[in-house]
Amino acid sequence: MNKTIMKTPLVEMDGDEMTRILWKMIKEELIFPFIDLKSEYYDLGLEKRNETNDQITVDAANANKKYGVAVKCATITPNAARMTEYDLKEMWKSPNGTIRAILDGTVFRAPITVKGIEPNVKSWSKPITIARHAYGDVYKNTEMIIPGAGKAELVFTAQDGTETRALIHEYKGAGVLQGMHNLNASIESFARSCFAYALDTKQDLWFSTKDTISKKYDHTFKDIFQEIFEKEYQEAFEKAGITYFYTLIDDAVARVMKSEGGFIWACKNYDGDVMSDMISSAFGSLAMMTSVLVSPDGNYEYEAAHGTVQRHYYKYLKGEETSTNSVATIFAWSGALRKRGELDGLEELEKFADQLEQATLMTIESGRMTKDLALITTIEEPVVLNSQQFIQEIRKELEALRKED
Ligand code: NAP
Ligand code: MG
Repeated sequence: MNKTIMKTPLVEMDGDEMTRILWKMIKEELIFPFIDLKSEYYDLGLEKRNETNDQITVDAANANKKYGVAVKCATITPNAARMTEYDLKEMWKSPNGTIRAILDGTVFRAPITVKGIEPNVKSWSKPITIARHAYGDVYKNTEMIIPGAGKAELVFTAQDGTETRALIHEYKGAGVLQGMHNLNASIESFARSCFAYALDTKQDLWFSTKDTISKKYDHTFKDIFQEIFEKEYQEAFEKAGITYFYTLIDDAVARVMKSEGGFIWACKNYDGDVMSDMISSAFGSLAMMTSVLVSPDGNYEYEAAHGTVQRHYYKYLKGEETSTNSVATIFAWSGALRKRGELDGLEELEKFADQLEQATLMTIESGRMTKDLALITTIEEPVVLNSQQFIQEIRKELEALRKED
């Protein structure tokens, strides 16, 4: 069988624990036999990050900027327990946070829909993609416990020293207080990433905030989106036959529940955090969510939305059998390869990506799946496979599809 040739290297970011094990299996069974893989490899496993003082993450993000497309394995974000477990020099920051800051991107999360795994919301026949603004608001807040009576004010001191003040509240007794901010530049790149991704995937874009209550803060988000849309994207949206639709968050939530899906829902930071968990669990499983980081200037990083599946990894280390779902990681590879093919004009590579996804879905639809899916499927008497067997079954389907052409 002739292997598909690539032009530009794919930036490959390896990761940790069970997903690192899956990563290797996917490459060996589903990539190497079919593709003459050109990749620039960065090991973002925690050991390597520690060894390089996290320089490897910065290098990987810069390579993503240089080449445009990356595929990333799930990585550990260190906490106190990881400090001891890996004997870390420092509590290194989340690699996703570092990469997102360098690319200035927005994360789009979408469920992988497949027959046999039915969403809890009956009307959802197409995936709903959540775009979360990943800067500011309550995630970069300043809080105070107010012990008793007193006055709280908002004070902005301009560079020339002039002060603008607004009364927040005259406290008669104890309470709490919180200050938040956001930046036009960040909202603008969020808006551009959303419009660009909507065009890229030919889906309508919805955006919602609480602008009726927050007449300055949230209203600024609404205005920035509207202005950028009219100036830069309206024509392209019309040509592509897609729409941009702004509505109040309450209305959006109500409409989403009655919709058939098939659109992108752009959310402020907190809304996106909460709604993406709701959407992913309603669609079935965290293991079936993909995630793509899109920068406003058109760089892409594809990954699974789930973590490193630590519990399964410890079973694996003890030599026990695991049945870890590799679908979202496989779709990260297919997403990245398809985008690479699109950018390089390699139809064969795009076709391979389609076939890889098709083979994965066919395997599940025929009743062969991992344990997490077997527990929720509507398919009767599913065959539960271990991590390796599931990938091997997909390979058989993929080989059959490739032979057909
Ligand atoms: P997790 O890895 O997403 O796993 C949580 C649980 O969800 C698992 O224990 C498993 O449930 C189920 N699950 C998730 N993915 C699965 C899959 N592919 N197949 C089967 N079941 C799956 O989250 P976590 O355990 O909270 O975090 C572990 C590490 O991942 C942490 O160090 C965290 O920092 C990191 N993390 C990384 C990313 C990223 O790189 N994007 C994202 C999130 C978390 P059962 O145990 O019940 O089978
Ligand atoms: Mg959350």
